[in-house]
Amino acid sequence: MRIGVLAVQGAFIEHQSLLHGLGAEAVAVRLPEHLAGVSGLVLPGGESTTMRKLIDRWGLGDPIRELLARGVPVLGTCAGMILLAREIVDGDEPVFPSLDIAVKRNAFGRQLDSFEADLAVPVLGDTPVHAIFIRAPVVERVEGSVDVLGRLEDGSVVAVRQRNVIATAFHPELSGEVRFHRLLTTMAGAYAEPAEGSGRRPHPTRRGLERTA
Ligand code: GLN
Repeated sequence: MRIGVLAVQGAFIEHQSLLHGLGAEAVAVRLPEHLAGVSGLVLPGGESTTMRKLIDRWGLGDPIRELLARGVPVLGTCAGMILLAREIVDGDEPVFPSLDIAVKRNAFGRQLDSFEADLAVPVLGDTPVHAIFIRAPVVERVEGSVDVLGRLEDGSVVAVRQRNVIATAFHPELSGEVRFHRLLTTMAGAYAEPAEGSGRRPHPTRRGLERTA
């Protein structure tokens, strides 16, 4: 299974090694052609303003929007969550508006630039998630069919899922937390091999090959 990791800037190497550990091929995505054949994508942490510029410069905006619209599973962490939000509070226009959330950047102020917390994330099982926050955003508002996956003790929403998109305000890849990536690869596997009757059909050439095999 091939999973793309956006590699224009930021903490992408940790995501790649984590995905390798899960048995996936993790390709660094710097140009549109690197998205060929991926059945999942990770948008890592970094600086979302820089990432947005490089995404534009390297022509990655439309191909990634198209991939999201096709239902390819995507995991965004920290700046990646900001890129996926439909609204950035007091901020720029959205980049890949595919999560019905409003996020506030750098939401935890100077004193709390970085901190760690253990979160209950029931969809991942009983063991709490050890979450590392670095100049992290917070989800200020959730709308539509967004599932809240995790909150801080004060109730702040820091992990969400909607349709094919998962996002965390923290960095699971820095604490050895593999379960979000495993969820992504599970969703990617289901995307690559749609269940009977799901309405999606294999590509015609593939169908042809199967028939002659
Ligand atoms: N503060 C960064 C931003 O607003 C995100 C930080 C991160 O990804 N660790 O884009």
